[in-house]
Amino acid sequence: MAHPGGHGPGGPGGRFLTEEEKKNQPKVTKALLVRVFSYLKPYRKQLSLVLLLIVISSVFSLAPSILSGKIIDEGLIGQNLRALVFYIALSLGVNFASHLIGVAESYINTWIAQHITFDMRNAMFSHLQKMPHSFFTGSNQGDIITRMTSDIDGVERVITGTFTSILSNSITLVVALIAMYRKNWILASIGVVIVPLFTLPTRRAGKTRWDLTRQAQECNDEINGILNETMSVSGQLLVKLFGKEAYEYERYREANGRMIRLNIKESMAGRWFFVILRTFTEIGPMLIYLVGGLLMMRYDADLTVGDITVMVALLSRMYMPVNNLLNIQVDWVRAMALFTRIFEYYDMPVEIENAADALTPEGKARGEVRFDGVWFSYERRSAQGESASAAAAQPEAGAVSSEADAAAPMTYNLKDVSFTLKAGDCIAIVGPSGSGKSTAVNLIPRLYDVNKGSVLFDDVDMRKLDLTWLRTQIGVVSQETYLFNASIRENLLYAKPDATEEEMIEACKKANIYDFISAQETGLDTMVGNRGLKLSGGEKQRISIARVLLKDPALFIFDEATSALDSISEAKIQEAIEPIINSRTSILIAHRLSTILSADEILVVKDGAIVERGTHEKLVNAGGVYTELYETQFKAQVPASDHA
Ligand code: ADP
Repeated sequence: MAHPGGHGPGGPGGRFLTEEEKKNQPKVTKALLVRVFSYLKPYRKQLSLVLLLIVISSVFSLAPSILSGKIIDEGLIGQNLRALVFYIALSLGVNFASHLIGVAESYINTWIAQHITFDMRNAMFSHLQKMPHSFFTGSNQGDIITRMTSDIDGVERVITGTFTSILSNSITLVVALIAMYRKNWILASIGVVIVPLFTLPTRRAGKTRWDLTRQAQECNDEINGILNETMSVSGQLLVKLFGKEAYEYERYREANGRMIRLNIKESMAGRWFFVILRTFTEIGPMLIYLVGGLLMMRYDADLTVGDITVMVALLSRMYMPVNNLLNIQVDWVRAMALFTRIFEYYDMPVEIENAADALTPEGKARGEVRFDGVWFSYERRSAQGESASAAAAQPEAGAVSSEADAAAPMTYNLKDVSFTLKAGDCIAIVGPSGSGKSTAVNLIPRLYDVNKGSVLFDDVDMRKLDLTWLRTQIGVVSQETYLFNASIRENLLYAKPDATEEEMIEACKKANIYDFISAQETGLDTMVGNRGLKLSGGEKQRISIARVLLKDPALFIFDEATSALDSISEAKIQEAIEPIINSRTSILIAHRLSTILSADEILVVKDGAIVERGTHEKLVNAGGVYTELYETQFKAQVPASDHA
């Protein structure tokens, strides 16, 4: 006899929702469901096929129960050997067919689930790539990867597990009920009453047991904690020196006692569980036999022995689906929580987007940059002091946030910054750490948008330019060089996939890294290791300079390395950078006097504002921030005779 007690109460996190899951239950709205089902839509045909197969296999799986009536009535009682053999064979055949169909069903099902997760993963990846830089600086990388992997894996389980289970169990139940009601409505109604009477108490017992298991587990953790603390060398020494033996013993004894009581309770909860289970599984069929017999003998009902056997068999087939459907509520809540989490990610705004009518200028850009009264804050609010996104989405929320703004004034990381970089020129930005140098430079490839004012590229507001085009015009060498775990060649080709060997070698020579590469056994095919860890900081920097040279942008941006490098490495980088800044449009965050001297204009930034600007000669004796920087940082970098 099949009964649902077989899989027991399940471990924590299994058959029942934890308190936390209950608290965080997502609201299941029509919109959410529509959205979930929209992912199934492209697979309508396959889904209809699965549905059909589930119906057939559910009906087929009930066939042996239904045919058992024929076996008894026509075969055994009717003493008809041919009928007996026929129905036995039919029953076996149908049963086999139902398993075969099950195989096909799970294949198509898995196929659909895999394709849906394929679609969702790709959509997620491409969405994440559009996320602004601030998203990556602000969120935990682990979280992002979890969404991409285990959350979307969860979707696959939902489709192959939860959805299928709901369908096949409902269908089995409906078919069993129809078959029972067609035989005899009184007996069928007894079944309808008996099945829930059986499943509800066993579920309850299961829940009690599950709660106890969880408590026992917590208690066990506590005991382990005590053991770890008191049985370690230093812990035991502490206990001894503070004379805490009795105290620790009491603590252990108490937890140990609790554990015993929980274990006894748990094992008894299991006993009650089985008492209820056995009683009800026995009561069900007995009631059917009794009432069926009464109807047959006393009320002359149109019932045969076979019919009653069928009823008993069908009754036993109903317990499992009912129990599964009750459990499905748990899976359902988890599935909805999963989808909600994934959709949350999909719905994160892509802050920096191409304008609908974005311009893609023809020909080579000049790489000119103009900052025109730029105000910028990482807090992302517009200059009017309202939360830009909230105000657009919901006027009320906007109102609330402007009240909040009144209380907490906006702190700008850039304040009214204006400057112009002409084609072929070089601007050096200097200033104390945290003054906003990187922030200003990050606005140029549009990693962030300004709050007020504008940044122009070749005299066009960059918000009007095609983002991809803009970024191909700009080459950035940052302090934190990122190389992919591949060969040097592959890292270079990332910038220009069709670069020839000669072009690569030339770029490497200009970047002062060719000697290093040719000294390697495998040359350009040398692997750089994970994130380029097999190379020194200076080598990585120079490869990244070669990469930018291959890209051949209209504008070069350098964030000059500070203290991370030794002076030889620095000199090599310097040699690579200098010809570039002397001949190309470039902007650099400078820490070295020699680069500063090569610049056409120096911008001195402090607390997000440009406080001084001009040439070294003009600034060095002005007695301001630059003079101070020069005295404390730059002066020591050159031999005394070179001092200006
Ligand atoms: P610099 O390059 O001159 O050392 P930054 O431009 O990196 O300075 O930083 C300027 C200010 O902006 C600092 O106060 C810094 O804390 C802040 N800041 C930098 N990056 C972020 C960020 N991603 N989110 C929030 N604040 C930031």
